[in-house]
Amino acid sequence: MEHNDTNADLSRGKIPATWDLAADVVIVGAGAAGLPAAIRAVDAGASVIVVETNYDIGGHAIVSGGNVPLGGGTSAQRKYGIEDSPEVVFRDLTDWTIVQPNGWPDYRYNDRAVMRAFADHCAQTYDFLVANGTNYRVGSASFGTKVSIVGLSGNVVAAANDSLTDGCTALTNPATVVGRIALIDRGNCLFVVKAKNAQNAGAIAAIIVDNVVASSPNQLGGSDPSINISVVSVTKNDGDTLRGQIPNGLSAFIAADPQHLSGVDANGFVKLYAPSSFSGGSSVHHWDTSASPNLLMEPSINSDLTHGVDVSVEQLSDMGWTEPTGGRKRLRR
Ligand SMILES: Cc1cc2nc3c(=O)[nH]c(=O)nc-3n(C[C@H](O)[C@H](O)[C@H](O)COP(=O)(O)OP(=O)(O)OC[C@H]3O[C@@H](n4cnc5c(N)ncnc54)[C@H](O)[C@@H]3O)c2cc1C
Repeated sequence: MEHNDTNADLSRGKIPATWDLAADVVIVGAGAAGLPAAIRAVDAGASVIVVETNYDIGGHAIVSGGNVPLGGGTSAQRKYGIEDSPEVVFRDLTDWTIVQPNGWPDYRYNDRAVMRAFADHCAQTYDFLVANGTNYRVGSASFGTKVSIVGLSGNVVAAANDSLTDGCTALTNPATVVGRIALIDRGNCLFVVKAKNAQNAGAIAAIIVDNVVASSPNQLGGSDPSINISVVSVTKNDGDTLRGQIPNGLSAFIAADPQHLSGVDANGFVKLYAPSSFSGGSSVHHWDTSASPNLLMEPSINSDLTHGVDVSVEQLSDMGWTEPTGGRKRLRR
């Protein structure tokens, strides 16, 4: 069989009776080990064939929790001044006296050679995963546990309340949601109601998908002190992409990035409110709803606004207003 016929057959999903392909690297198994190996080989300029016996790629990795605790001096650790090294990682994973009282004493039985290799490659593995992953911008919530720079990770699953996906009533698939990140659609009830239903079903976090197309994810307003999970929002487009990936298995790492302020453009300027459908009295009159902390002149009055929490004074100064040097602080033209 000609080489091209083989490729054509394969691209149609048909396996030819005989075939003859050659590559620099042949990888057997498209799972957690095989796929990164294939990426590395292609990055290094090699041609690669990945042979997979299953009907789809992913192996056990696709059903895994996706938790990958990596340290040893990653770029993120260096960025935030966290001291770590391969040596500390190795000791943490082999010497039970180091991990007590919060670690697992069983670590003392770990295979030294495997742990050495893991510790020595931890930081590069982190950088590889970051370089080959996809980033989505999220909006934060005024309730629940604030997402930190340390972040959280887990599998993302679709929350269901009967045939609905809005999370406005008790979730009917708690066995799927427990221990995972629940994806919920915006609309029909308050954000806190959705978050509480996800929490009650055992979710470790929730992602609320906007129901109108917008360029930035919303900030989620509301208050309920009994909510302790982290809740974030994504735009409708990003949410549709995430929902489409769920059947294939989807893991997410959600973290705050202090280098990227909410509600500003690439140059750091505060964005104006510009929804895709014109909003009379608000379009381009107000600041974008993605700003956090919330600003005084957003389309709606936010319950978390108090004097001094936003950057209105700085914005008015930018426009040419000045502050008197003594007495009451009042801006003047
Ligand atoms: C429920 C669950 C949760 C997990 N959670 C985590 C977690 O949170 N963090 C973590 O680090 N690990 C987790 N793991 C473990 C992790 O998924 C595995 O350690 C990892 O997937 C192993 O990678 P692998 O490439 O060796 O095997 P796999 O990912 O299973 O890939 C092997 C691939 O080889 C294919 N294959 C097998 N034989 C052949 C053949 N003869 N020809 C062609 N293809 C073949 C298989 O079909 C499969 O696609 C979890 C595992 C499970 C099951």
